[in-house]
Amino acid sequence: MSSSRGGVDVVTEALTELHGRYGALSEGRVADYIPQLAFADRDCFGLALMSMDGHGYRAGRCGVSFTLQSLTKPFVLALVLAELGADEVARSVGAEPSGEAYNAISLDALTGRPANAMINAGAIAVTALVPASGPADRFARILECLGRFAGRALFVDEDVYRSEAATGDRNRAMAYLMRGTGVLRGDPVEAVDVYFRQCAVRATVTDLAVMGATLANGGTNPVTGERVVPEPVAVQVLSVMAMCGMYDAAGSWMLRVGLPAKSGVSGGLVAVSPARFGIAVHSPPLDAVGNPVRGVAALRELSERFGLHMMHNAAPVAPTVLGSTTTSGGRIALIAAQGRLDFTAAERVLFALEQRRTGPPGGVVLDLERVSGMDPAAKAMLERALTLLIEAGHDVTVVGDLPFRTRGAWRRSADRAQALAAAEQALTATGDRPPATGRDH
Ligand code: GLU
Repeated sequence: MSSSRGGVDVVTEALTELHGRYGALSEGRVADYIPQLAFADRDCFGLALMSMDGHGYRAGRCGVSFTLQSLTKPFVLALVLAELGADEVARSVGAEPSGEAYNAISLDALTGRPANAMINAGAIAVTALVPASGPADRFARILECLGRFAGRALFVDEDVYRSEAATGDRNRAMAYLMRGTGVLRGDPVEAVDVYFRQCAVRATVTDLAVMGATLANGGTNPVTGERVVPEPVAVQVLSVMAMCGMYDAAGSWMLRVGLPAKSGVSGGLVAVSPARFGIAVHSPPLDAVGNPVRGVAALRELSERFGLHMMHNAAPVAPTVLGSTTTSGGRIALIAAQGRLDFTAAERVLFALEQRRTGPPGGVVLDLERVSGMDPAAKAMLERALTLLIEAGHDVTVVGDLPFRTRGAWRRSADRAQALAAAEQALTATGDRPPATGRDH
């Protein structure tokens, strides 16, 4: 996103800086075990970031399309999880980091299941699970789903598909093994053929950033606004990516970068900062475990520089409770909250309410006018806290029109002044008791 006046914005500037610095890295080998991949330009290097608000930023060569290869795995897993649910999928594939290479014959000795859906064996099993009337229909559904994640129709690179189909005996062998263990139903050759086609779907690094941002955004594409998969599915996929997405380097990636991610042998890498953005890098040379050298280096720096590690303190930045004061001579407590309420933010409000609950009965005005939304969990916590206040003998008024699931015994009020007046009136009507502290007399 460059502007015509005064150069570029700060995010583009940071991406451009990373592009400049890591473009100079010359290590790594372009994959050639799929012969057609060897033709990739090793100097091609692009970075793209898409925020969950749909703001896009780019640096380097971002218009070049490349085959997604393993980068399709999380998105096809999402499709299958959305269609069949996690329990059904778990019958065919595990969710354990294998700590092994992408093409490892990693089947559980007891169940015959592949360790996870991010390595080839697991991905082939997952692809075979896509409900369809036959292989052509199955692939059509996969292609459509990948397109919805990217926000545009995607296409297959027939040369790369044929190149892998002609050489991919190891994957076929794994499919046969999985039929032997009962994990794969149907024809192994057919299953692998759909998988090869899926791997040969082309996209740009910009598309890939949108795909990542869709997962960051809980399954809704931030550019098209389309819900691609339900929110719990996005959470499940990100969990698997976090544990298993970076081949046998998944552990050190989590330690140093700390974002769910997936790489592919074509040199693509997508990382997701949940509830923030998707970022993608494309640069063909790979390190010894098959991850793109420049992509790993650039994301490591980006994560450190901007404090993006998932385990970083993610508590809401702004205070939740704006004010907790008493009026009317200490008889009425006014507690105002702001922002979106999740568990942590709700706990802050509850803490303020609790201070009041344990004191002598009086009026409590909870002003939620500046609360922009609530998680279901936060709503339930708040409802329970209000009920407890009432049970303790307090007169409760809620300001703001956030929908509560049940209508409690608390008063609703359109604005704060009205709420305070109503609380005052109620206390007078019930012949209120003097406050225990006597501070205001
Ligand atoms: N099509 C590739 C394979 O199955 C994908 C591997 C990857 O990108 O990790 O070998």
